[in-house]
Amino acid sequence: MLYVIGIGPGGLDMMTYQAREAIEQADVIVGYKTYTHLIKALVGDKPVIKTGMCKELERCQAALELAQNGKTVALVSSGDAGIYGMAGLILELVSKQDWYVDVKVIPGMTASIAAGAVLGAPLMHDFCHISLSDLLTPWPVIEKRIQAAADADFVICFYNPRSRGREGHLRRAFELMAPYKAPTTPVGIVKEAGRRKQQHWLTTLEAMDFELVDMRTLVVVGNQSTYVDNGLMVTPRGYQV
Ligand code: SAH
Repeated sequence: MLYVIGIGPGGLDMMTYQAREAIEQADVIVGYKTYTHLIKALVGDKPVIKTGMCKELERCQAALELAQNGKTVALVSSGDAGIYGMAGLILELVSKQDWYVDVKVIPGMTASIAAGAVLGAPLMHDFCHISLSDLLTPWPVIEKRIQAAADADFVICFYNPRSRGREGHLRRAFELMAPYKAPTTPVGIVKEAGRRKQQHWLTTLEAMDFELVDMRTLVVVGNQSTYVDNGLMVTPRGYQV
């Protein structure tokens, strides 16, 4: 049995009961170092197979092999496993293999939901997720999606907004949105949502400080009705108030 588990954005209090139970039932835990560390208290003395970043394929293959050998395996991803996580890769590998393995995907709170609550209610109207990582997606495709989402006036949540070697991507994304979104459009920045070191800032499209952003940050750009009041970012749904 292989559980593919989204453990939520941070602490144990943001994990679903289902995820908790699956981790408790598992014989072995597989995951990226940071995430296995976040759930240490639940893992106890179970064996943990940790791998570093960019070792996704090895991690998934190891998890599948253990499950095939009769173990109950918990493969953990941060946030939701089906959003830039491991769930898709596991199911792709399973569909390529001729033996059967029981896979259950367990949902988790994705970073945008946690960040939205920190900022107020910015995701009340239609929104989308765009990852600025071009490791697996060609950069021209990402640019096209940013423009289309801005043109359609979506609230946009940027995942993977910055890393070493990709410093300019978020700045470029802001340039691409400029023709469609007003310079005063509210922007919320949440670093380490749901974790002990959580921090957040509110700014605008024109005043954005790109230096605040790293790979543990989520950036939420409002739509044309989003406003900030009392330190909270709100996207009206359309109620007459
Ligand atoms: N599966 C994860 C996303 C993995 S992609 C999920 O559903 O949340 C990694 C990106 O997610 C990071 O670069 C960052 O943009 C965002 N992220 C993940 N956890 C976060 C957190 N606790 N606070 C802010 N952003 C986070």
